[in-house]
Amino acid sequence: MRLDRQVIRAVSQFRDAEQYSFVVEYPPPLVRPRISETDILSKSPSDSGSGNPPIEVYVHIPDCPYICDFCSFYKFSRLSEQERDRYVSAVQKEVDIYVERSDLATRTVTSVFFGGGTPTRLSPDQLSRLLAHLAGKLRLSEDVEVTVESSPDTLDNEILESMLRGGVNRLSIGVQDFHDPVLAARHRGHTGQQAIDAYHRARTLGFENINIDLIYRLPQQTLAGWDQNLQVIRDLAPDYATFYHLRKERRTSLGKKKEACFPTKEEAMEMYLRALETLVGMNYLQISPNQFAAPKKEFRQQEHKWHRGSELLGLGASAYSWFNGFAYRNVGRFGTNMRKDLTTYLSTIESGHLAVESGERPTAQEQMRRFALFGLKTSGINRPSGGIDKQLFLERFGVSLEAILGDAIQDLKTKGLVEEDAQTLRLTLGGLLVAEEVATLLYSSAMNNRLKKVKNTFGRDGL
Ligand code: SF4
Repeated sequence: MRLDRQVIRAVSQFRDAEQYSFVVEYPPPLVRPRISETDILSKSPSDSGSGNPPIEVYVHIPDCPYICDFCSFYKFSRLSEQERDRYVSAVQKEVDIYVERSDLATRTVTSVFFGGGTPTRLSPDQLSRLLAHLAGKLRLSEDVEVTVESSPDTLDNEILESMLRGGVNRLSIGVQDFHDPVLAARHRGHTGQQAIDAYHRARTLGFENINIDLIYRLPQQTLAGWDQNLQVIRDLAPDYATFYHLRKERRTSLGKKKEACFPTKEEAMEMYLRALETLVGMNYLQISPNQFAAPKKEFRQQEHKWHRGSELLGLGASAYSWFNGFAYRNVGRFGTNMRKDLTTYLSTIESGHLAVESGERPTAQEQMRRFALFGLKTSGINRPSGGIDKQLFLERFGVSLEAILGDAIQDLKTKGLVEEDAQTLRLTLGGLLVAEEVATLLYSSAMNNRLKKVKNTFGRDGL
């Protein structure tokens, strides 16, 4: 498949590479007011609408073997064994608080995702303890999907075997690039070959679902080098491949580098199109603008969270939740006060309370926008059922998508960013190229006004 490069010219006006960001939540985390656990836990289970719907669980582990210079996640470099131990106990306690004080124990958990940070920095014992606690306290579905994010240098036989024993059935390996100079310049602690070896080791030991993450638009990356990265993906044939556009967060050391150090906006778009051509050429299904799944594979947590609008409970410092009708986050932000936030998280949980920091209960209108903008992010060039499911929208909200977002949709159609049939509204190829920007075009004017007030104060992360 060869895609028409005219599309780059058609949509490049929508991209400001310096300001590029991911839409990770809606309403955006930065605009949310303070919230207390009483707000979140005050709602009785019967208020949740359709009985006790299934839920997804995310666990944040903020520890890494090294700090990559582009990364703006909430994480630390090499917490001590004791610190990790205390953190694991706190997450266990956080589960207990929800089980005792909400309807969580009656809801089926269909997926668990350990992200970070680098969850495989936990010792095999710590990870096993956490997995066993979740399995003991929550109602995990028979076929629960359990994903653990990792870095190649942490994947020795011991941790891989303990994950398999503990029920982990999906492994995500953050590689970012297979070229040693590119990796070393970003302070990664592994080589390209070590990443390939870790992948094979996990396969040999029995992992049947492996994702590989790559990042494009890093300094020193070239189109020829990117083609070599894609050749490695072809050779390895992982079950999933994910390609992230670099987010140049200004509070990271990479974010302070001059624009001339990076591939141009157009080169980055070319890298994206080449990745898309490669993976679709391998018969992978594009399950979101950045993600591809091998035939017959699905990434359940993402699918439930974005396509169906399922609730998600976030555990650990800085984790986001969409629970009991509230959108909120735990204490813990990248930047200043990170240690203080960790102490606050630990001591609050240890005293028997949730360490929630900010959040709100979105209005019905905002909930519909949320459903629509994340639904759009399930579009794929070879996935006719991706995008916003119009019937599901009608069933969920009792009103049609057109009635609520007709004007915005018409505008996106005029710009050539979305297309529709009777069942779905989805991104076009141009829309896929600038999917994050399209998502922000669905923000309400009230939300845009709130964002204007905080943008200059807090930076742009999490918009
Ligand atoms: S990219 Fe991954 S390994 Fe690097 S600092 Fe961020 S979370 Fe840690």
